[in-house]
Amino acid sequence: MVTGLSVRGVVNSIQWYTYTKQLNTNHLLIDMLRQLTHLALLCMAVQSVYSETDTNYRLNTTISPSAYSILITPYFDTGDDKAFTFDGEVEITFTTTTNINTIKLHSENLTYTSANITLMNGGNTVNLLETNPLEFEDKYSFAHINLASELTSGVEYILKIVYTGTIRDDLAGFYKNYYIENGVKKWLGATQLESTSARKVFPSFDEPEYKAVFTLTIDRPANYKPSLANTKLQSNLSLSNGYVRETFYPTPRMSTYLVAFLVSEFEAEHYSRNGTKEVGVFTRPEAKNQTDYAFNFAEKVVQALGDYFGIDYYSTNSNLKLDHIALVDFKAGAMENWGLVTYRESLLLYVPEESTPYYKYRVAQIIAHETTHMWFGNLVTCHWWSNTWLNEGFANYFQDYITAMIEPDVAADDQLIIGSVYTALDADDVPDSPPITNNNVNSPDEISGHFGSITYQKAGSVIRMIHHLIGDNAFKSGLNAYLMAK
Ligand SMILES: [Zn+2]
Repeated sequence: MVTGLSVRGVVNSIQWYTYTKQLNTNHLLIDMLRQLTHLALLCMAVQSVYSETDTNYRLNTTISPSAYSILITPYFDTGDDKAFTFDGEVEITFTTTTNINTIKLHSENLTYTSANITLMNGGNTVNLLETNPLEFEDKYSFAHINLASELTSGVEYILKIVYTGTIRDDLAGFYKNYYIENGVKKWLGATQLESTSARKVFPSFDEPEYKAVFTLTIDRPANYKPSLANTKLQSNLSLSNGYVRETFYPTPRMSTYLVAFLVSEFEAEHYSRNGTKEVGVFTRPEAKNQTDYAFNFAEKVVQALGDYFGIDYYSTNSNLKLDHIALVDFKAGAMENWGLVTYRESLLLYVPEESTPYYKYRVAQIIAHETTHMWFGNLVTCHWWSNTWLNEGFANYFQDYITAMIEPDVAADDQLIIGSVYTALDADDVPDSPPITNNNVNSPDEISGHFGSITYQKAGSVIRMIHHLIGDNAFKSGLNAYLMAK
C-alpha cells in the first residue's frame, strides 16, 4: 500500500530545528543546512511516493454502458478438458460521448479472439479493423477492440463477446468451493467480484461508476439445486445437454462489483418466497438447521434499516429479494452483493447451545453491516475506490448502531466503542496513516490496501461523531436526502 508523508513528520522536524537553534551558534548554520537537506529529502520522498501510483490503471473512457446480458455455463468435475471451466457470453449495450475507433474495456484471464466479437448498431454490423482487431494489455487487464470505422457519439451499440474462463481457485471471480456430504465431494461455484474481479468473469467496464442493468442467465447441471443470483428467478428451461437454463430478472442499475451468482446444491431451511419482502438463508444441506438466528435477524434488520433511512429496501426495485449465503470457502468476512449477500460460513451459522454470546453478536453485526450496504454502496456508490469510506464507513457505523436498536441483548452499543472507535484511534496513531479519502488509489493492490481500519473504523467513528453532534433528527433526514439524491 502506498502512503503519503504525515503532517506529524514535518512538525517533528520543525520542532527539532527550533531546539537546535538554542545550541552552540557555531553549529547553527550546519544544523540549518542539515535541516534543509532533511526537509528536501522528505519532499523528494513525498514526490516519489505520489509518483509511484499509476493512473493508467483507470479505464478513462467516453463509453457509457447501460445494460449487460450475461450467460454463464459452468463445468465442474466433468473429468474432461472442460472440468472447472465455464463458457460465457456477454452482450453490452452502450453509447459513447465522443467519436472513437477503439473500445477499451476490462478483461482478465478470459479466452477469446476477434472472431468471437460482434458489434452491432441496430441491424448493422460494425466491422473490426482487419489488422490487429484485438489487443490485450495484461498489465492493466484491458482489452482493446480496434474498429474499421468510428463509433458515433450518442448512438447505441451492442457489443457481443463469446468466451471461456476458468472456475478459479483463488477465491476471486467465479471460484470453486467444495464440501463433503455423506462421503461425497460436492462442488459448487460462487462469485466474489469486489473490487476488481468482474473482469475475470465477463468482459466489462469494471469500475464502480460505470453502472448498468445486468440480466443474468445461468445454465446449471440438472442435479444441482436452482441457481441463485442478485434478483428473483424469471424463467427456467430444461436443455437437451442435461443442464437447466435459469434466467433472472434485470438488476437495479448497479456497479459491476455487485454482480453475483451461485451454482450449488445449497438449500434454505427458512425463506420467504411470497412475492413481497423475500428473504432467504442458504447453506449446504447439513448446516441448514443452524440458520434460525440469521434468518430472524436478517428479516428484522432489513426492515429496521429501511425505516431508519426512510427508504424500504424492496421499494427500490421490484425484482429484488435478499438472500444470505453461507459459503464454505471465502476470502473476506462477507460481501454485500445486491440481493445475494455472501458470508464465510462460520460468521452466519449460530447454534444457541454451542456458540458463545460473542458469536451471536458477530452474526448480528455482520448481517447488519452487509444489509446497510444495500443502501450505502449499492443504491449510492463511491464513484471510485479512493472514497470507499462512503460504503464502508456507514456500514461500519450501522453494523452496531442498528443492532443495538433491535437486538439489545448482544450489547452492540458497547462493541461500537471497543471494536471501532478504539481500533480507529490505534490505526491512526502512526506517521503513515492514510487519509480517509485517499487519492493515491489506482491499481488493484492499492484498492485492496485501502480496505483497512481507516476506511472502516475511522470513517465509521467520524460518522458517529457527526450523528452525536447534529442529533438524530438531522442525521436521519440528512441520510434520507443523500440516499434519495442517488
Ligand atoms: Zn462492508
